Amino acid sequence: MALSLERLVDAVSSRIIAAADELTELDSAIGDADHGLNMKRGFEAVLADKANILAKPLPDALKAIGMTLVMKVGGASGPLYGTLFMTLGKELPPEPTAADMARALNAAVEAIKARGKADFNNKTMLDVLGPVATHLSSGSASLASIRALADESARATIPMKAIKGRASFLGERSIGHMDPGSRSSQIMIETVCDVLEGRS
Ligand code: ADP
Ligand code: MG
Repeated sequence: MALSLERLVDAVSSRIIAAADELTELDSAIGDADHGLNMKRGFEAVLADKANILAKPLPDALKAIGMTLVMKVGGASGPLYGTLFMTLGKELPPEPTAADMARALNAAVEAIKARGKADFNNKTMLDVLGPVATHLSSGSASLASIRALADESARATIPMKAIKGRASFLGERSIGHMDPGSRSSQIMIETVCDVLEGRS
């Protein structure tokens, strides 16, 4: 899979930064209104470190992104997104195939579950990352089907009751709102699909 790391870094960072208000709005409904701000701070730091990141082979570049997110995003999502990128860096070879991507994303989902002591249907980012990882493993995924599944999965968090994270403090009142981390995960997945398709 030929992929331009620079285009991926630019596109994912700029889409997340552009979505900061929306993500914070979602977090104001069921959290503490900082998810957009946290993610914006993290991806601005990634952009600031871009020259260093792009000088590395893909696995090390992904690990460097993960470390920056851990240091800069903060909150619950920082260490978890850090785990996502660091695991991808650990699992992927320098020139990954689609099968490598599937295996690495599944490993990252397991690492996030372990790190956050969470499972699927807890109304977290795992409810987008998990279904997409499983879908990639099916071997029949297309960019269009991945994009659609990520969108559908983020929306499927709306009726869920939060079991993990700050939103769980609300109990039943967390029902009826999209999980902010699911939306940020969906945006990242959609952006990667767009870049691979040459749309972004
Ligand atoms: P905080 O909750 O500390 O304010 P953020 O607002 O940046 O951090 O991130 C909240 C998001 O983090 C949630 O919407 C959810 O998707 C994700 N999250 C929180 N706790 C967990 C967990 N234990 N496992 C997986 N994801 C989690
Ligand atoms: Mg928050």
